[in-house]
Amino acid sequence: MAEKVVLVLFDAVGYDAALRDCGTLEGLVEAGLARRWCMRSVLPSLSAPVYETLHTGTPPYVHGIRSNDRVVLSKGPHVFGLAREAGRTTGAVAHYFFSELYNVAPYDALRDMEVDDPSLAIQHGRFYSELGYTKWNLNLPSETDLFTRATLLIRRHCPDYLLIHGFAPDALGHLYGTASVEYHHAVWALDNALAEVLHLWRDEGYRVLVTSDHGQTEDGRHGGTTDAERLVPFYDVGHPQGGVATETVSQLAVAPTLLSIMGVKPPPVMTVAPLSGEFGPS
Ligand SMILES: [Zn+2]
Repeated sequence: MAEKVVLVLFDAVGYDAALRDCGTLEGLVEAGLARRWCMRSVLPSLSAPVYETLHTGTPPYVHGIRSNDRVVLSKGPHVFGLAREAGRTTGAVAHYFFSELYNVAPYDALRDMEVDDPSLAIQHGRFYSELGYTKWNLNLPSETDLFTRATLLIRRHCPDYLLIHGFAPDALGHLYGTASVEYHHAVWALDNALAEVLHLWRDEGYRVLVTSDHGQTEDGRHGGTTDAERLVPFYDVGHPQGGVATETVSQLAVAPTLLSIMGVKPPPVMTVAPLSGEFGPS
């Protein structure tokens, strides 16, 4: 049976950080209401390459987004486009890199920040930037505003696929390191804000997946190959088998998982099997 699906992307929240600071999600795992995997990121463990991997099911050397320095339109096929072609509705509340990857590049805030256009791959988009952030002035949406905006988008447009992207842990980790109280608080704050809306989305019939693009080292770096940079959590709230999976899985599984939950057949270029339980492609 096809379902609607939300993907919550916590930026730069490694596996150990999630287990330590995400009490809401871990509580659902403990109660058997969610399933958690340990997932290994592709390389390089950088945001834009991984954003594209999460939506194409292919590694950077295939999809061509190789660093954060050159973000261009995705060549696809990607989850947003495949969902739209299958008659599904798409949305995102996310960093502007996603507008550049799937809607239009380069990003022009006055044109692209808020869009409701069925011809775009991300049909209902609400984008933000961290441009101008400094150590003393982080220009990021609060976690509560982020999830409120997403919940309003769900109520108004009922997207079959909604991406929600919280950027603060990455920014705070770079500034203060992942052992800092600032980083711990940023991770906890996302989990805490999620607690107030998760049940609303479930009531609307959404399967809710939560993961991260990459982790970070204690001194605030990523892009390399260590477990601190590569191992991330993957939670599936609503998976028929709750608890903890013992195997470490590939990040290439996320795109086919999203499609299979929506009842859209993954294309052959997505070579890894979905993690979505009995919900196979239609
Ligand atoms: Zn970063």
